[in-house]
Amino acid sequence: MRVLVTGGAGFIGSHLCESLLGDGFEVIAVDNLSTGRVDNVEHLLSHPRFQFVHHDVTDELDVQVDAIYHLASPASPVGYRRFPIETLLVNSLGTLRLLELARRSGARFLFASTSEVYGDPLVHPQREDYFGNVNPVGPRSCYDEGKRFGEALSMEFVRTYHVDVRIARIFNTYGPRMDRDDGRVMPNFITRALNGEPIEIYGDGRQTRSFCYVADLVRGLRLLMERDGLAGEVVNLGNPDERSVLELAELVQRLCGRSVPLVFRPPRPDDPIRRCPDITRARALLGWEPRVPLEEGVQETIRYYRHRLAGIASADE
Ligand code: NAD
Ligand code: UDP
Repeated sequence: MRVLVTGGAGFIGSHLCESLLGDGFEVIAVDNLSTGRVDNVEHLLSHPRFQFVHHDVTDELDVQVDAIYHLASPASPVGYRRFPIETLLVNSLGTLRLLELARRSGARFLFASTSEVYGDPLVHPQREDYFGNVNPVGPRSCYDEGKRFGEALSMEFVRTYHVDVRIARIFNTYGPRMDRDDGRVMPNFITRALNGEPIEIYGDGRQTRSFCYVADLVRGLRLLMERDGLAGEVVNLGNPDERSVLELAELVQRLCGRSVPLVFRPPRPDDPIRRCPDITRARALLGWEPRVPLEEGVQETIRYYRHRLAGIASADE
């Protein structure tokens, strides 16, 4: 089985490649390295069943594969504000090119969508049949509307061409290899605490997120791809353990063993107030639910950044 992973040099993509290789798949990782790093797949480059291709998926790609995981896209608010038009294009034109490839090759297709399709949700927790509350012209819209377009296009390839597409609505995922400069809350809080710098909280910190450890997420993505009979299914993948940003800051302080100051900054525009997945559908269709408790996943992530920060410090000497 040959599998294409777009965004394979990114945070989630690199873990997915590793998991697929571990189970005997042949893996082609395609990435334009806009927000990802070759570092993330350095340890896989000599693997006989792994191939890395430096390529932008908005350009035509000709490979024969059995399955396509389309993960390529800037994913953090800082990342997509830095590349707003590219974000719209990779989720629209890029998705079109890859759906056409799936149609030509008879491959299964998984579109990595996001909880951001629910915007700043008015329904809580979010179920897949909720249509969302998205600002179509705000600073997050390049991402939210890009993903919504990608979902709509995917569904039209199911209805029109009977391509076997599955859509994963991924909620906040964290773990080793998250880019420490991409501005997301987990790398920001952990690296600041480890460096003894103040943790910055945007707004009053009462906004919530539900954090899923990357190993759990990858297991969910693979089940969604590998189970038969799921064409056209849209499934939330996330951890329903909802926490406030303030609670997360306190947890990171405690687990890092550093009581750095917490400072409050103005809220981000259009920052969703509450976010928590309803995973009833994932449980029913996939028998999936997260297994890694937040404390355990955060410990593991702290270990990773400790190691990286130590490496950077010694390289600077
Ligand atoms: P990431 O930035 O680490 O990985 C994305 C990868 O896509 C990067 O390696 C980047 O270089 C690559 N890429 C971007 N545009 C490309 C293009 N045009 N052609 C080829 N490669 C391109 O982010 P991530 O957190 O690993 O996210 C992976 C996917 O999961 C994204 O589609 C994201 O929208 C989705 N997602 C992630 C989360 C999360 O919490 N991490 C939540 C919801 C959805
Ligand atoms: N956040 C914060 N401080 C930071 C980074 C993020 O308070 O240094 C907040 C942000 O405002 C949001 C939450 O943490 O409410 C999650 O932000 P992130 O960028 O990780 O992901 P989002 O879910 O907003 O896409």
